[in-house]
Amino acid sequence: MLQTFRHYIDGGFSDASQTFDSINPATGEVWASMPAASAADVDRAVRAADRALFSPEWANLTASQRGKLLYRLADLVAANAQELAELETADTGKIIRETRSQIGYVAEYYRYYAGVADKIQGAYLPVDKPDMEVFLRREPVGVVAGIVPWNSQLFLSAVKIGPALAAGCTIVIKASEEGPAPLLAFARLIHEAGFPAGVVNILTGFGADCGHALTTHPLVAKIAFTGGPETARHIVRNSAENLAATSLELGGKSPVLVFDDADVDSVSNAIIAGIFAATGQSCVAGSRLLVQRGIRERLLAKLVEKARAIKIGDPQNVDTEMGPLATARQRDHIEAVLAASLAAGAKLLTGGHRPEGMGNGFFFEPTIVECATSDIPSVAQELFGPVLSVMSFDTEEQAIALANGTRYGLASGVFTRDLTRAHRLTRRLRAGIVWVNTYRAVSPIVPFGGYQLSGLGREGGFDAVLDYTRTKSVWIRTSDDPIADPFVMR
Ligand code: NAD
Repeated sequence: MLQTFRHYIDGGFSDASQTFDSINPATGEVWASMPAASAADVDRAVRAADRALFSPEWANLTASQRGKLLYRLADLVAANAQELAELETADTGKIIRETRSQIGYVAEYYRYYAGVADKIQGAYLPVDKPDMEVFLRREPVGVVAGIVPWNSQLFLSAVKIGPALAAGCTIVIKASEEGPAPLLAFARLIHEAGFPAGVVNILTGFGADCGHALTTHPLVAKIAFTGGPETARHIVRNSAENLAATSLELGGKSPVLVFDDADVDSVSNAIIAGIFAATGQSCVAGSRLLVQRGIRERLLAKLVEKARAIKIGDPQNVDTEMGPLATARQRDHIEAVLAASLAAGAKLLTGGHRPEGMGNGFFFEPTIVECATSDIPSVAQELFGPVLSVMSFDTEEQAIALANGTRYGLASGVFTRDLTRAHRLTRRLRAGIVWVNTYRAVSPIVPFGGYQLSGLGREGGFDAVLDYTRTKSVWIRTSDDPIADPFVMR
């Protein structure tokens, strides 16, 4: 039987005038019916968020009271992690091992921002005028439009909803039209936690109508977007309508640099985790391996052996290590880029095909290709799939040039036991994250974001909350003397 999901707008669950089918990527079959928000639905949600922003039920809460609501939400996320994880796995094909642990950790993001709520401070300014007291109030920026892509929707919305609510904003979140089930189901927890009506609204729909209507809405003050660079260009153009402040978390082509002194066993596990976890559908996927020539042969042999041993299968099974791609379109795209790469001279070391016996699911083998030049498509483009492109280098300078030879700049990894080299590289790599002797580690305490085509702004960490605020300068004259010459600026 088909499961049916609904929108959460103005504190209530509602159907949309249109629906669309959601496909289980592991079977290729329709498993759920999703509501598709129209421009009218979006307008209703944004107006509800705008009313809530100034309502006494929300605006009069103290920062600590907002924090308490967020703590309650965090507890509810932790208590419901298994159910949400099963929904995410059914709708996106991401393996249950990962969805369960990631959603358990999403609770920590809400906990972190719950604690941040009453630590957002204004300032007292020692102004250069003797009879004035001046202070800065930090106020919520207004109604936030949050837009997320299909992968990790609960995680990517938590880094928007958490700071927005801590700051006292209200928010309308658009789940991706691909895999929206967990985020739509999460709305029930917002309701149970006791947030006033309209403070959080969750809907889904397609980019061209629902996403466009949301990001151009005149009552939206901030857009927090995660997705691909092409869509980001639309978002920025859309924001010219409402002049909303915009943050962009985009794609990547992250390099992993391995030097001769690295430990082959340990580093190969980190590389496998970096590219094949989530079937490569991770913005921080370490999709370019740059390996020093002295360790190259041993490392590649180990990687090929480990890639071939990865258990591909039903993502709901706890033993499965790699599930399908989220959509057939995504698998077709990966096949096309891989074919173009092989035609351009890339050498296939392992994988490259749809595995046998997987029915109509959108599966693809863990794939490793060796590439001599950076213009090979699998090196140049973000594939968002399980394809590792390998290049070799002799010197540190060559490694840096290869690593920085991209317009992306989200993450990077360095594997070496040489401390001074590690420090040099942390300075010279052009990426928002440098992981040294580790990969794919995240924390609510640590900012996350990219350089260049990988984005604008940071999510996570304390400062992210300031992006959801604006300052108001308050001047108080302390003198009882009459105001003198009206034609002189004070
Ligand atoms: P996408 O850009 O196609 O879609 C993202 C969201 O934008 C979806 O909800 C979509 O409906 C919406 N959208 C599409 N057109 C729109 C428009 N004209 N106006 C408003 N909204 C619109 O991305 P995707 O294919 O779903 O996800 C993959 C991309 O996301 C990859 O590039 C990946 O690297 C990136 N990503 C980045 C991060 C990060 O934090 N940096 C995290 C996860 C994914």
